[in-house]
Amino acid sequence: MAIGRNLFLVGAAFALTATPALAQNKGAAIGSEAQALEIAQRAITFRSVAGAGNQTPQLAAYLRSVLIAGGFAPSDVTVTPVDDTAYLVARWRGSDPAAKPLVISGHIDVVEAKPADWQRDPFTPVVENGYLYGRGATDMKLDAAVAMTALLRMKQAGYKPRRDIVLEFSGDEETRMKTSALIAEQLKNAELVINIDGGGGRFAEDGKPQFFTWNGAEKTYADFELTVTNPGGHSSAPRPQNAINQLSAALVRIGQYRFTPQLSDVTRTFFREAAKQKTGELAAAMRAFAEDPKDEKAIAVLAADPAYVGQIGTTCVSTMVSGGHALNALPQRATANINCRIFPGVKPADVMATLQQVAAEPALTIRDVSEGSVANDASPMRADFVAAVTKALSASWPGVPVFPSMSAGASDSMWFRYHHVPSYGASPTFMKESDDFSHGLNERTEVRNIAPGIRYYVSLFGDLAR
Ligand SMILES: [Zn+2]
Repeated sequence: MAIGRNLFLVGAAFALTATPALAQNKGAAIGSEAQALEIAQRAITFRSVAGAGNQTPQLAAYLRSVLIAGGFAPSDVTVTPVDDTAYLVARWRGSDPAAKPLVISGHIDVVEAKPADWQRDPFTPVVENGYLYGRGATDMKLDAAVAMTALLRMKQAGYKPRRDIVLEFSGDEETRMKTSALIAEQLKNAELVINIDGGGGRFAEDGKPQFFTWNGAEKTYADFELTVTNPGGHSSAPRPQNAINQLSAALVRIGQYRFTPQLSDVTRTFFREAAKQKTGELAAAMRAFAEDPKDEKAIAVLAADPAYVGQIGTTCVSTMVSGGHALNALPQRATANINCRIFPGVKPADVMATLQQVAAEPALTIRDVSEGSVANDASPMRADFVAAVTKALSASWPGVPVFPSMSAGASDSMWFRYHHVPSYGASPTFMKESDDFSHGLNERTEVRNIAPGIRYYVSLFGDLAR
């Protein structure tokens, strides 16, 4: 999962003390649960954070060595440096060169972590009380280790894929997504993509598995800059037109505007299934909205809930504002940023046109200043994928409901969907709501995910590479 675009710099002293030697495996059996934990722990020691001292290239080199030790041909595992980072592509050749590849997509960079704020050093993995702690324990070094281990187990078992299986790890998913875009461009002939950094399961607070969702769509991220300019002048001689007032009034109108609610195959199925997990007014609203996205009562309930307002359509909010140049001057300029999360399939240009119209301010200009984002449609609910993921999950967590969801955040799936390659976020990692610290402090994931996770991937990859 990606968030902000801030690049953090680290002190050279810390970067030096944290430099791990190029790791050798301690000797866990190839394809075993112990190996998955070993890879994850080793991966956490690399400070794969954007900026000075970025150890993503070294981490990629370590993972490459593990894949080769597990049977990948050295010439089929490449690490490509890009700026301060690197990405890894590993190809397991299938028996049918004409078949389009199955791509397994993840990332090996992590969000910055300040050791002083953590209870434990974020780059020293610790297993305690059934949890793996460390930066990347959730997002997404354990996931990478589990998926890799599943592939190595399949190799050990003599599995022969029909289509090529391509495992790729981007190196700047959490920041600029330059490697993400390069990889998707390179692999745009893929049959489909399993994004191991999306979807996942929920444990109830008592530890029981509740449900599992896979991501079939995600919102498109966009930023629009709104500007009002005026001739300005002396503040003792006000005029009817004032850039700050005009912009403010426009922002209030935009804030009160609601985009027409929308429903897709993915969100319809999500609301129908999620309603079974909820009770009362919320469950009723989910059911009603799934049948009729014009149901005003249902819309009101869902729009008032921060967890679901983003699921029912495009949302746009003011996030930054600035204006004026002196305490005693009429403002010559006022600007604001509107951040939008656009419903899959809607064009950013159409959202921008709507904002211009809603602003109803002739002096206002608007431009798209989005960076590191491309518009993308929902992936179709492909029967082969739905069958494979449902079967894989029931092999690892029997009886747990499986349904699709739409992610409100951006992931590497965006770059594949941009090329019209179906991409599905489908991590088998379950967690309690109270354990979700990805991007935050004291990140942790339960290690009991490892065994079912490997079983799940062996089933999923095996079915989809046929
Ligand atoms: Zn992530």
